[in-house]
Amino acid sequence: MADIIQLLPDHVANQIAAGEVVQRPASVVKELLENALDAGAACIKLIIKDGGKVLIQVVDDGLGMSATDARLSFSRHATSKIKKAEDLFNLHTKGFRGEALASIAAIAHVEMQTKPDTEELGTHLRIEGSEIVFQETAVTPKGTSIAVKNLFFNIPARRNFLKSNHVELRHITDEFHRVALAHPDVAFHFYHNGSELFNLPADNHRKRIVTIFGTRANQKLVPVEEETPIVKIKGFITKPEFAKKSRGEQFFFVNHRFIKSPYLHHAVVAAFEGLIKSDTYPGYFLYLEVNPASLDINIHPTKTEVKFDDEHSLYAILRSTIKHSLGQFNVAPALDFDQ
Ligand code: ADP
Ligand code: MG
Repeated sequence: MADIIQLLPDHVANQIAAGEVVQRPASVVKELLENALDAGAACIKLIIKDGGKVLIQVVDDGLGMSATDARLSFSRHATSKIKKAEDLFNLHTKGFRGEALASIAAIAHVEMQTKPDTEELGTHLRIEGSEIVFQETAVTPKGTSIAVKNLFFNIPARRNFLKSNHVELRHITDEFHRVALAHPDVAFHFYHNGSELFNLPADNHRKRIVTIFGTRANQKLVPVEEETPIVKIKGFITKPEFAKKSRGEQFFFVNHRFIKSPYLHHAVVAAFEGLIKSDTYPGYFLYLEVNPASLDINIHPTKTEVKFDDEHSLYAILRSTIKHSLGQFNVAPALDFDQ
């Protein structure tokens, strides 16, 4: 019989990968914000039009790229963040798959301007459906700006599946909150259709939470802190009287990355046992630091699910740390704004 297997052309492979990485405009926002953070940006601007359907742009003042790297960044498996398999067990960056820009460029019109601090001139390039259609040396500021337009222009089924601008903006805002809470030391600006939704100066954790969720959040927060050989825990829980029926302000960050963990959520809720009604949930902003070697984040392309080596110990430590904080707070309320 004749041979029938062929390797897919790159643009088809990229489009398939995009299906996993990019579900909606918020996924693009996440990837671009994370790239800006990995580039060491001190100030990041997020500019959105019409819930991300018309424009998603991220402007950073980070490292920038050379002309060759700017071009290569849109190739699949092109990354500056890991070099060998072992690096996967010692990750210090958000990215490492080298897939985001290739995926985004396969399903949108992308315009990039980038310049390293050391160069006089930068690079301006446009790529549409995996094809570079324009590249020029240009006068650009230090850092990188990536504008993503007409998302899913070549996948009508996906484009039609998008929800209203309002709903897509809500998903984007959720993603923005997660990234901004994980990095209070970075300044963020967020604009939608020309109006500024958030202006977050570089701050400490408590002030970042309060700037995002309003000054009333401040009085709700109880500090949490613990250091063990397995995990370092910092952050805040909300006082029991502020427990809500709806799930809402509940955030776990592991090594500066937002994660979802029903298991650890359970540990927090268990610590509140007897203090809140069983159909209500506490709010929390918990920052965990573990040895990168004890953490697998390569379970899913979006990297919000992770696998811990010693999940059971983590559960026990988290639960007792929070119990301890709740106990302390009963004795001496901690309302210090500067913690
Ligand atoms: P990954 O982040 O997994 O490496 P991406 O596709 O997101 O993959 O990006 C590919 C590469 O492009 C990155 O490794 C990085 O070198 C470069 N890059 C992307 N965005 C930026 C940025 N905002 N500033 C500087 N370099 C960037
Ligand atoms: Mg990336």
